[in-house]
Amino acid sequence: MIKPKKSLGQNFLHDDNIARNIVQSLALQSGDHLLEIGPGKGALTKFLIRKTPDFLAVELDPRAVALLRETFGDSLELLQTDVLTVSLIDLAEQRRARFKVVGNIPYYITSEILFWLLDQHEAVLEATLMVQLEVAQRFVAKPRTKEYGILSIFSQHYTEPRLLFKVSRNSFYPVPKVDSAVVRLVFKRDLPDCDHLFFRNIVRATFGKRRKTLRNGLKFMGFTDDQLDSIGFDLTRRSEELSPQNYVELSGKLQQYKNHVTLPFS
Ligand code: SAM
Repeated sequence: MIKPKKSLGQNFLHDDNIARNIVQSLALQSGDHLLEIGPGKGALTKFLIRKTPDFLAVELDPRAVALLRETFGDSLELLQTDVLTVSLIDLAEQRRARFKVVGNIPYYITSEILFWLLDQHEAVLEATLMVQLEVAQRFVAKPRTKEYGILSIFSQHYTEPRLLFKVSRNSFYPVPKVDSAVVRLVFKRDLPDCDHLFFRNIVRATFGKRRKTLRNGLKFMGFTDDQLDSIGFDLTRRSEELSPQNYVELSGKLQQYKNHVTLPFS
C-alpha cells in the first residue's frame, strides 16, 4: 500500500476502463518510442508494457518505484528522478527517433511539464496527458473566450491540441476537487519561422496586462511609441483577441527592435 502524497500530486487512477481507453487511443506500434510520466502504482503502465519494446517510465517517488520494480521486474525500464530533469532531446538523439509521451501527470507541475515538452519539441511526436479539465479547456481555447490565454497560445503554436475525453473526479483515489480530461498534443513538424524566445516574451508580456491594450504591454517591455507606430500592426487590440499566428506576425514585426528591450522571460 502506498499512502498517497499530496505534495507529489498523487491521485491514483482506479478505473481500468479509462486506463484502457487512454492506451488504445495511443494506437501503439512496435516501432514506437514511449515515455510515461509518473507511473505511480502502474494504472496505465500495466496496459502499456509490452506494447512496444522501447518503453521508459519516469517516477519520482521511491515507494512507487519499489512497487513497480516488484510488479514488473526487468520488463519495465524505470528511471527514478524528477521528469523535468530528463533530457528528451538526448534520449531521442540516442534512439534517432521522437517520443510518444503519456501520463496521468501530477497537477502541481502541469505548466512546467507543458513547457518541458514544448522546449524539447523536436524530440516529441505527441503527448497524451491526463490534466485538470479546466487546463484541457485552456489548451484548446479559441481567441476571445475566457479560457484563452498563455497556455492556449503556446500549446497551439507548437502543437495541435485535442481534448479526447472527460474523466470524472470519482475515477481517482483520493478524489480530487476537480474533474479531469485526457488531451492529445500532436507536435507540429514545421513550426512557423520565428525567434521562439522573443515570441514567448511578447506573448507573456502582453498577457501579463490582459485587460490593457497590446501597446500598453509592449511599452512596459521597453518599446517606444515611435517603434510601435512603425510596425503597422493594430495595437489597440487586447492580447486575448490575437491568434497564435497573429502573435507570430507581431513578434516578427518587432524583431528589428529586439536589442532595444530586455526580455524578462527565459
Ligand atoms: N499514473 C498513475 C495513475 O494514473 O494512477 C499515477 C498518477 S499521479 C496523478 C502522478 C504521479 O506522478 C505520481 O505517481 C507521482 O509520484 C509522480 N510524480 C510527481 N512528481 C513527479 C516528478 N516531478 N517527476 C516524475 N514523477 C512525478
